[in-house]
Amino acid sequence: MRIAPKFRLPLTYNTLFSYSRIDENYGGAGLGFLEHALILEEFWKVDPGISQELSSVSFGAEEFLLFGTQDQKRKYLPSLTQGKAIMGFAITEPDAGSDTAAAATTAVLEGDEYVINGNKVMIGNGSVADFFLVFCLTEPEEASRSRRHSILVVETDRPGYESDKIDGKMGLRASDTANIFFSDVRVPKENLIGVRGQGFYQLMQFFDRSRAYVAAHGVGLAQGALDMAIEHVKSREQFGKKIASFQITQLKVAEMSTMIELARTLTHKACWMVDNDKIDTKTVAMAKWFAARMAVEVVDEALQLHGGYGYMNDHDIERFYRAAKVLEIYEGTKEIEKIIIAQRVLGKY
Ligand SMILES: Cc1cc2nc3c(=O)[nH]c(=O)nc-3n(C[C@H](O)[C@H](O)[C@H](O)COP(=O)(O)OP(=O)(O)OC[C@H]3O[C@@H](n4cnc5c(N)ncnc54)[C@H](O)[C@@H]3O)c2cc1C
Repeated sequence: MRIAPKFRLPLTYNTLFSYSRIDENYGGAGLGFLEHALILEEFWKVDPGISQELSSVSFGAEEFLLFGTQDQKRKYLPSLTQGKAIMGFAITEPDAGSDTAAAATTAVLEGDEYVINGNKVMIGNGSVADFFLVFCLTEPEEASRSRRHSILVVETDRPGYESDKIDGKMGLRASDTANIFFSDVRVPKENLIGVRGQGFYQLMQFFDRSRAYVAAHGVGLAQGALDMAIEHVKSREQFGKKIASFQITQLKVAEMSTMIELARTLTHKACWMVDNDKIDTKTVAMAKWFAARMAVEVVDEALQLHGGYGYMNDHDIERFYRAAKVLEIYEGTKEIEKIIIAQRVLGKY
């Protein structure tokens, strides 16, 4: 186990994403979700790994905006937009992945402090963040599984915090991911975000927003993959002709671009709804599931159009292919998104 050295991204990039997603009162540009999605799309089009790191420097900041006190917002948000801090959101545990309500990292109130024990896995910025939101079990005796948790902010320089960087990721290798450990980590009770015991509901409200961003990741990645494929088929010749001239290629390009446009429309709709206080869990889940599936399919076909060259790591499409899969896994697997959609479409029966 080791603690990785901290690094700082260049201020301009580091701040762009945090700046755009954090309210203007706390040092951000006050852009809406739709504008933020458009920025994400452009970055993911060019490099998913770098974009993942840049776009996650303020991952979880929405919790402060939604549920934080004025003091908490003033304390934590400006440092993100000034490029002086990196944050993350630690939810997943070895036995609590899709089933977030099974999280067993405990936070016990002792006097004026919460004492935190447990561990989280696969956490973005795990070895570089300055502070985390940590999804903790605070009400183990509560009958309802959805009223057992609370969200606490934990600074990573507190004694008892350790991280272990994960080096074996399939894709998005430019971004930091780590397993993190809490051993009697003490935080003041003022570090509680929102209401004690309401952490699960607060988390779901965060997902209703963050999943729209993941949909934008998918749209950007797929557009970047299609752009590369188009460039390749317009220059590569076989059987004496450009590959672009074969009708099979043209059908593929037509299908890929239409799928991207469908996902983009759904993603923009989901973001527009967030911006206009018409948040709809089902629409966000549809956008997240569909854009991620579309990205995996489009990047597969884009690599196919590169032939054997696409399988080599000197071609960017190989990196895009490895990056795409995680979009169907993090922040709610495709199966979980479909469960959310079906529950809302079917209603009671
Ligand atoms: C690169 C990367 C970055 C990440 N960053 C973070 C982060 O910053 N913070 C964080 O907290 N977590 C993070 N995660 C963890 C991620 O959110 C989880 O991997 C994800 O929620 C799935 O949990 P799991 O891996 O435990 O899979 P499991 O929940 O064990 O799922 C395994 C399979 O079973 C299926 N399944 C599970 N339950 C059901 C069900 N009820 N019905 C049908 N199928 C089901 C799933 O869909 C999946 O296909 C990250 C993961 C990765 C890979």
